[in-house]
Amino acid sequence: MRLSEAQAKQLFAAHGIAIPRGEPWRGDPAPWWPGGAVVKAQTLAGGRGLRGGVRVCRTRPQVAAAARDLLGSQLGDETVDELLVEELVDVRRELYLALTIDRESGTLRLLLGREGGVDVERSSAGVASLSFPLDRQPDDTALGRLMDEAAVDDLDPRLFAGVVRALWTLFLDLDAELVEVNPLACTPDGRLVALDGRVIFDDSAAFRQPGRPLGRSLGTRFERACGDLGAVGVEMDGDIVLVVSGAGLMMATVDLVTQTGGRVRAAVDLGGLVLREADELAALVDLVGSLRPAAVLVNAFFQLATCDALARGLARGLERTTLDVPMVVRMRGRGWGEAHQLLEPHGVIEETDLATACERVVSLARVA
Ligand code: GDP
Ligand code: MN
Repeated sequence: MRLSEAQAKQLFAAHGIAIPRGEPWRGDPAPWWPGGAVVKAQTLAGGRGLRGGVRVCRTRPQVAAAARDLLGSQLGDETVDELLVEELVDVRRELYLALTIDRESGTLRLLLGREGGVDVERSSAGVASLSFPLDRQPDDTALGRLMDEAAVDDLDPRLFAGVVRALWTLFLDLDAELVEVNPLACTPDGRLVALDGRVIFDDSAAFRQPGRPLGRSLGTRFERACGDLGAVGVEMDGDIVLVVSGAGLMMATVDLVTQTGGRVRAAVDLGGLVLREADELAALVDLVGSLRPAAVLVNAFFQLATCDALARGLARGLERTTLDVPMVVRMRGRGWGEAHQLLEPHGVIEETDLATACERVVSLARVA
């Protein structure tokens, strides 16, 4: 789950990191500060600065004009529906600062770049890093070395250590995966101000984080829609959609279809969706259809759920949508007899052997 910039900054402020004064855009009268203002689209993807999603305004009417211009516009594949208006901060230097997990060594990794801002999004050259155990924050010597390595020498070490401590606390307290400040602005009067913030939470820790602010799910429109249904979707760029029971089986099926010469458009792990109502499963058929695939392969191996429950949902989806593409189904588990009865009227191609099912779907996609 990913927080908006405004949410991330509220967390920074709550942990003692300075942020610019600001407020969400609520329409006229436009918020204003004597030094100027910045109007910022609250989309999730990075690179807003490069795409015109961040507008520097020198007059109050400019703020209103920028807000009207941005609201409802497209930024990448997101529609701008929320704006943050902030006081314009005087910037001497923009740093890049981030804290993330190094999965291989099981440590935290602190990243510091001398040239932050929009350029670091193009190239990470010049970003120095420091790994440390997650239960012990880096000491002043380690931070000093990091600053040397990043060639950031004109920075107050105590001020910097304070920001790092705040990020580290926030990271651990809220089970984050990534906390990024880019840019961390050094102002002419020697302050460090977070001009942009990105916080990604570890979704698997949600159960022990009831008080955590709710962000938006990551991923493409299709992937988010799968998440809303209780499934896990991964969008790729081929033409075959796989609907599979379980993450491990999903990866194995992607491999098998690819080895058979097919190209996967998307893979869906049904997850908890198999235990839900037929209507919710049917919604997945709609969603799969929206990708306009050449063919669909359903590969399910059930222990707890039953084949007929999935078949009922698929049949309901096939009844009402225009998914006029071949669907190959291979299911194992209880309720297969009933599943067969439900699927037969819909022209579904049933296979019992997985390798054969893969060959079948690949050749159907080829002639589509
Ligand atoms: P991103 O491109 O999506 O990461 O958006 P940012 O929030 O990082 O904004 C992009 C750039 O706009 C920053 O790197 C800054 O150069 C600039 N910017 C944003 N807020 C301010 C501000 O308050 N003052 C100044 N001078 N520049 C700002
Ligand atoms: Mn940024």
